[in-house]
Amino acid sequence: MKIGLFGGTFNPFHNGHIRIIEHVKTAFGLEKIFLIPSATPPHKPGTDLAPAQDRFEMVKQSFKGQEGFIVSDKELIRKGPSFTIDTIEEFKKALGEGVDLFLLMGSDAFFDIPTWRQKDRIFESVGIIVMLRGGPKNHGAFVSFIDEYISKGYIFNEQDNGFFHEKKQTIYLCRVPRIDISSTMIRERVKNGNSIEGLVPAGVLKIIHEKELYQ
Ligand code: ATP
Repeated sequence: MKIGLFGGTFNPFHNGHIRIIEHVKTAFGLEKIFLIPSATPPHKPGTDLAPAQDRFEMVKQSFKGQEGFIVSDKELIRKGPSFTIDTIEEFKKALGEGVDLFLLMGSDAFFDIPTWRQKDRIFESVGIIVMLRGGPKNHGAFVSFIDEYISKGYIFNEQDNGFFHEKKQTIYLCRVPRIDISSTMIRERVKNGNSIEGLVPAGVLKIIHEKELYQ
């Protein structure tokens, strides 16, 4: 069984997030995707960060009654800063044998990985699916980066669009539909009094208004 993990600040969760993970779920035949809002992200000390409980609730409302997408509070209930490797290991333990785990991330997050805690263990434990925002296939940008910052020995396979390694899990590149929505853009629109209708699911819109977030 293939399962995806998708973490983010989700500040707020938006339609771009939904579209890209739906795309990856189908493309890779993932049975489920766990969405994991981060509590105190070690890489994103935010000034405009909505309370964790609200960000969690926004993701939850977005998938109400929908199968295959599960919102996890694993990083919210953990004390102290959350590190991806801890989350991966908790999921591996909970899901047991026979599960192929994949970590989904945007290319911005991927290029940030060298700063992540225990990055080598991450690449040994889970497959990575890097979501590329539209555009042409550009695996060239990844070759030297992977070689220099992750490990030597990855070989690109054009057919699978992935980097394979004898001792590590595969790093797949997945082009996702280009959707020009970001959480930053939504926060700015709210701050400037512009509408965010159509950019976020209805449940997210309601929470942002009710809790007066990002004003
Ligand atoms: P911010 O604008 O605050 O940086 P974000 O919209 O990128 O936020 P995150 O919570 O950081 O949202 O998103 C988690 C992951 O989803 C990131 O790796 C990001 O690259 C990816 N992502 C977010 N929006 C899109 C989008 N429209 N298309 C492709 N990837 C996206």
